[in-house]
Amino acid sequence: MEEDLRRYVPAGKHRLPPLPYPYDALEPVIGADTLRIHHDRHHKAYVDGLNKAETALVEARKRDDFTYVKYWENELAFNGSGHILHSIYWTIMAPRDCGGDPGPCTVKEVNKYFGRGEAFCEQFVNAAVKVEASGWGILAWNPAWDRLEILTAEKHQNLTQWGVIPILVIDVWEHAYYLDYQNNREDYVREWMKLINWVEVENRLVMAREGELPLLLASSPE
Ligand code: MN
Repeated sequence: MEEDLRRYVPAGKHRLPPLPYPYDALEPVIGADTLRIHHDRHHKAYVDGLNKAETALVEARKRDDFTYVKYWENELAFNGSGHILHSIYWTIMAPRDCGGDPGPCTVKEVNKYFGRGEAFCEQFVNAAVKVEASGWGILAWNPAWDRLEILTAEKHQNLTQWGVIPILVIDVWEHAYYLDYQNNREDYVREWMKLINWVEVENRLVMAREGELPLLLASSPE
């Protein structure tokens, strides 16, 4: 069987994906300054950190010297998770009231497990608001159980549920909202719900259900 190289990213070759809209496109929900700093500095730092960790591990394998493997594995998890989740976060937002309505597959799967859309929304909002300190609210497809689930991640390298496919994610690290909402995370989360790009959510869910990993604009090698 021929190897599938369409998604293969060699060690150290991750790139920061461009934002799919201008910096001010999400105003007034998310200000241009927040978006610029979040994307250009925070997300870039994750990409740089991931490339650095992967490159260091290439060297470690070459030299057969794993003295610092614990440090680099932690960097790999922290920066890799940051890169993946931010790449999804950008694509599942759209200018306010431009994201359309939930698609047929989204409606079907949300209703199948959560009963109704409002119940899903309230659990998602409350779960995101109550993440301790920094982290994420995540709607994920779990192929093992053939259904959606709402998960949270404190920080983002911890408490992962292996094998799930994140469909819709919200960043609740303070850097995502502090300039616009200070400590009022709930205001940010509730306003943020108006930014959801339901077309992209539907695309991701359809791919996940079919066993196709809906990965990232981000990961194409140079
Ligand atoms: Mn962030």
